[in-house]
Amino acid sequence: MKDLDVVVIGGGLLGCLAARNLCRWNLHIALLEAREDVCTGISRANTAIVYPGYDHKPGTLKSEMCVRANARFDALCQELDVPFSRCGSLMVSFGEKADAVLRKKYENGLLLGVPGLRMLSGEEARKMEPALAEGVSSALYAPTAGTVNPWELGIAACENATANGVELCLNTCVLGIGRTAKGYRIETDQEVFSCRAVVNCSGLSADSVQKLLFPTPVYIAPDAADYLILDKSAENKPAHIIQYEPEDGGKGFNAVPTVEGSLLLGPSERKNEVDFAVSKEGLSFVRERAARVLPGLNLQDTIRSFAAVRPNPQHPDGSSIGSYVIDNPDSGFWSLIGIKTPGLTCADELGRYVADRLAAELCAEERPGFDPHRVGIRRARDLPLSERVVLVQENAAYGEILCHCEGVTKAEILEAIRRGAVSVDGVKRRAGSGMGCCQGSRCERAVMELLAAELGVPVGAVRKDGPGSEILEGSHGKN
Ligand SMILES: Cc1cc2nc3c(=O)[nH]c(=O)nc-3n(C[C@H](O)[C@H](O)[C@H](O)COP(=O)(O)OP(=O)(O)OC[C@H]3O[C@@H](n4cnc5c(N)ncnc54)[C@H](O)[C@@H]3O)c2cc1C
Repeated sequence: MKDLDVVVIGGGLLGCLAARNLCRWNLHIALLEAREDVCTGISRANTAIVYPGYDHKPGTLKSEMCVRANARFDALCQELDVPFSRCGSLMVSFGEKADAVLRKKYENGLLLGVPGLRMLSGEEARKMEPALAEGVSSALYAPTAGTVNPWELGIAACENATANGVELCLNTCVLGIGRTAKGYRIETDQEVFSCRAVVNCSGLSADSVQKLLFPTPVYIAPDAADYLILDKSAENKPAHIIQYEPEDGGKGFNAVPTVEGSLLLGPSERKNEVDFAVSKEGLSFVRERAARVLPGLNLQDTIRSFAAVRPNPQHPDGSSIGSYVIDNPDSGFWSLIGIKTPGLTCADELGRYVADRLAAELCAEERPGFDPHRVGIRRARDLPLSERVVLVQENAAYGEILCHCEGVTKAEILEAIRRGAVSVDGVKRRAGSGMGCCQGSRCERAVMELLAAELGVPVGAVRKDGPGSEILEGSHGKN
């Protein structure tokens, strides 16, 4: 039995950032992840917006956290050496009814202290963002909105947590939780852990994991969503995040200029579906919305589609729970249940919130020597030619480009494997190979061969995709 202070269950963004916040304290911590890699669940498929925070009901934890979390995002990304683009957002409307909704959001944002908000006329919005449709009648401009690569942030947080002493246990699925005199006994499919405290960040399974020990009146009802990605070479891409408030009050739409330079479009909404396969109807919805708001886009520039699943927290009667559910059913047991949008924006705040409370419960002292800094993989393509030449002289693998679409070198791919990638997808999520217009069709074989050589397995045994985001266990809905 492994003896610890805190066990964090789930290596998504929330678990990785909770673990990183916990290691500010002098505690022995393990992060347990059921899959072979971190950030392969919800954190791998979402809209990637760092929200400004004007949308939430005043007085809720969500509204309090979102504005603060947004303000801290530059510092967080600098510490973790992750690109962050504070590109600003324009939420646009067509017609009086939706204009009024934007004005309400504007007023709510002012109340919540969101900096720099402005209401614009359609003409002012088009001046700022010429790609917008002629029919746009008004826009809510939020200069503090931004975007980050969510899995890059989570992986970086995990690397920083392990560098500060957190023990990462992959392929370790929690199957049972019991109470002991010391605290908790965690049974997994690998070994048994004994700990004083538990942080449950198990995403779509968070309700089921809590129910392993505590009955909980919260249920996760999943919804599926579809997205498209347009190539970085696509014309008429907006420079800001564009959000659309539909006149009928229905599902909105986002166009996000990603940190990689591509354009993310979506999501659709498929109620009560747990399906990570895209749907034809969902993609048609996304295309129709894109054509309405940004008519100059050529949707033939699409390089990829994907689906995501939202964990909607509900009461037992099926009614929705609007704010975050942070449950503390007994001393030393904290659950983050049904954290959906803006969970990416608030992941660090949520981690800090739980870590500070747990540290107080455990009377923990601050860890001397905690280092918040992590250095990312050196990307040859971002360096001036003179520096690239020096790099190649030091390490010839920096001179060998394997992913031609994205300019990723052999050295970067080897570094991704050294840092924990065990599949083509894991390499992609660390080095960025396969993210371009050919979607890995040209570099996949070379990446597989490197993985095989480094992991000491035959090429045929190398996994291409991550394990997907299938639900692991549990009820998912009250039935
Ligand atoms: C469609 C969609 C769009 C979104 N867009 C935005 C956005 O634009 N901006 C924003 O701020 N937020 C957004 N979010 C929210 C945000 O993506 C999530 O809140 C964030 O990624 C945190 O995910 P997580 O860590 O809770 O879950 P996950 O990333 O799914 O991590 C949970 C982990 O727990 C592991 N696990 C599960 N059960 C067990 C077990 N028994 N034992 C061990 N491990 C287990 C899983 O394998 C998984 O890796 C969006 C969410 C969705 C679904």
